[in-house]
Amino acid sequence: MSTPPHHPPTSYGSAASCHICGAIPAVHAVVRGHRGLVVTLRFLTEEGAFCRTCGTATYRRMTSDTLWQGWWGLLSVFAAPVTMVMNIGARSRIRALPHPVGNLRPQLAPGRRVLARPPALVIMAALVAALGAAVVPKLIPHTQPTFTAGDCIRNHAKWPEQDLEEVGCSSPEAEYWISDGDKCWGKDWLLYLEYSAEKKTLCAHPMSK
Ligand SMILES: [Zn+2]
Repeated sequence: MSTPPHHPPTSYGSAASCHICGAIPAVHAVVRGHRGLVVTLRFLTEEGAFCRTCGTATYRRMTSDTLWQGWWGLLSVFAAPVTMVMNIGARSRIRALPHPVGNLRPQLAPGRRVLARPPALVIMAALVAALGAAVVPKLIPHTQPTFTAGDCIRNHAKWPEQDLEEVGCSSPEAEYWISDGDKCWGKDWLLYLEYSAEKKTLCAHPMSK
């Protein structure tokens, strides 16, 4: 196993040191955040030379704050994701730095990953819940009512479309009574076969008022 080639410090630009802690190497970056209020937008930036530790901490804090505070307005629904996409470049340059040395001041604590912080967890839970609400009803089989001769029904659709519901034959809602299909005549309607409990043709006769 060979060790990865060591990049000389000059590949990180001029002798920049972290503007927060003074360590080297550091890279110039703009880390963005967004705070959406009901009627106003606030675009937040932190610009300067970041060492890996302070840059990671800044990126995580700004991104997590954007996830938490970035959605409270109509335009923010677009501004918050754009802000996070714009941070990808800064984040990757900060992550490419080696471990910083020689800090003169305390470094920021990177803390937990953005995805492990409460704002991201809340949003992911909401997405999972929304996905579940969209998918689960489709997984529950549609219960198709079926009828036999002698049942009474009403049609919620317009014939020949059929959206049939069984109702009591003495109910005022009863529109048709059902017989076997070979007794169909006049203004009767043949039911879709899927409505037949025994998979044979059935006929709907208007109730005689
Ligand atoms: Zn630093």
